[in-house]
Order: sequence, then C-alpha cells, then structure tokens
Amino acid sequence: MTANALETADREVPMVDVRGVSKRFGHQEVLRHVSLTVRTGEVVCLIGPSGSGKTTLLRTLNHLETVDRGRVLINGQLIGYRQEQNKLYEYSEKEICRRRRRVGMVFQHFNLFPHMTVLQNIIEAPVGVGKKPRRVAIERARSLLQRVGLSERADAYPSELSGGQQQRVAIARALAMDPELMLFDEPTSALDPELVGEVLAVMRDLAGSGMTMVVVTHEMGFAQQVADRVIFMADGIIVESGPPSQVINAPTHKRTQDFLKAVL
Ligand code: ADP
Ligand code: MG
Repeated sequence: MTANALETADREVPMVDVRGVSKRFGHQEVLRHVSLTVRTGEVVCLIGPSGSGKTTLLRTLNHLETVDRGRVLINGQLIGYRQEQNKLYEYSEKEICRRRRRVGMVFQHFNLFPHMTVLQNIIEAPVGVGKKPRRVAIERARSLLQRVGLSERADAYPSELSGGQQQRVAIARALAMDPELMLFDEPTSALDPELVGEVLAVMRDLAGSGMTMVVVTHEMGFAQQVADRVIFMADGIIVESGPPSQVINAPTHKRTQDFLKAVL
C-alpha cells in the first residue's frame, strides 16, 4: 500500500461507529461497553441468545434507545446528540427525527399502517416528512414495489397481504426515504416458514446492491451466504466477531459453540 492509499484508508469514515456504549434498564446492564464499526457497504449479522441485547444495540443506532455511556456515530455524525466541549446534549425530537431518516429500520412485526394502502404506506414519510412532491414519491414507490416483487399490489391493504408480502412492503417503505443504512430486527421471525425465503431474497438483493446493513437474525443460512461479518452477542457484550466461515463454522468461544449447537 502506498502512503497515499494508506492515508485514504485511514480517513475512511465507517457507516456505523459504536464506541464503548453502555446501557442499563433499572439494575440490569443490557449493553456493557460495546464497540463496533461497520464499513460502508458491509453486511453484518448480529446473532445471540434471547435477552443478549441485540435489539437494544440495534435501537441505539437510530436513537430509538438512548445510551448511558459511549457514543454512536452514523457516517461520522453523532446520531442523537450534539457535542459541545466534552458534554453531550440530546437533540430536540424534531432534529432527532430528521437525523433518523438516514437510517431505515425493519421490525419483526411489520408495523404497516393498517388503514392505508400499500402505496400510501410507502409514500407517507417521503411526502409528509421528506417533503417530496407526491408525484415523485409515487413514481419512486412504484419502482420500489417492483424491486420487492409487489408491483401488482400497490392498492391492496396490509390485511389483504401475506406476512411475507407485508414485510416486503415494510422494506420498500424504509427504502423510500433513501437511507444510507438499513437495520433489520429479526425480519423473518414472525413469518410462516414458507414465507421466509421471499423476504430473505429481497434482503439478499439489497445487500448485493451495496446497501450497508445490520441484521439481527436467527437465519444462519442467510448469515452464512450474505454477511461479510457475523457478530455473536451474549449478556450485553460482543463475544466473538468475524467472517461467517469463522464465527458460524469454527467458533472459538464456548458460548458461541453452545448457541450454535442449539440453533443449527
Ligand atoms: P435481544 O434482542 O437480544 O433478545 P434485548 O435487547 O431485547 O435482547 O433485551 C436485552 C435485555 O434488556 C432483556 O433482558 C430485556 O428484558 C431487557 N429490556 C429490553 N428493553 C427493555 C425496556 N424497555 N425496559 C426494561 N428492560 C428492557
Ligand atoms: Mg430482540
């Protein structure tokens, strides 16, 4: 590597930069000094037993959860706070919402608006929050629906769709805000087994298109095929992290080994 290239690599700002984050609920320390970086374009799968802090960690990345200690930077910027000298000040709700738009999130339960059609669900935020002209938002929504294989269902209501279709709409809705980072919290856990594949296929496509993704999942096949890196969490710490071939196929820690034995 030339000195110049080295300098460029050094200066590259990670998409996600979690520095020493701790978080407690009451007496329970749910995140214990967690540090983690995700490069732009990287796909990271977060695995671990129930209660290990995966959801909490994910939620700190878009400031749905505050942190007690440490910092979360998204693309080089603090997500929920501004820093003056050495003190952090939480942004106003409005400013937090504005910043949160850069991060798309897909939940286990699809959380679509039941009284809106698929198309209305997708254009709601771009028009309401993003101030996109309606015509432009509709055009974009239609192309996103095509991308998730649902161009025929624009006028359907969520209740008329299968769980897999609803989740694909939820992904399209998140993408409509043009996020630079996508978070997924067990996006297929609530689905009937035969519907899991269609959602994972959309996520695989998205990963292939270069989207930066952090995915909490129990789908080890997906993690193995799509993740650049797998992170195993237990009791609020990152126990082990590396390429899937290492963490899933040859874990070095006993906790990881025990967990994988139980889920594989
Ligand atoms: P995971 O997603 O790995 O299952 P979570 O991040 O949801 O783990 O939860 C970690 C721990 O924090 C659990 O023990 C959970 O009960 C607790 N917890 C999560 N959210 C809250 C909350 N809002 N209030 C109190 N405890 C919580
Ligand atoms: Mg969870």
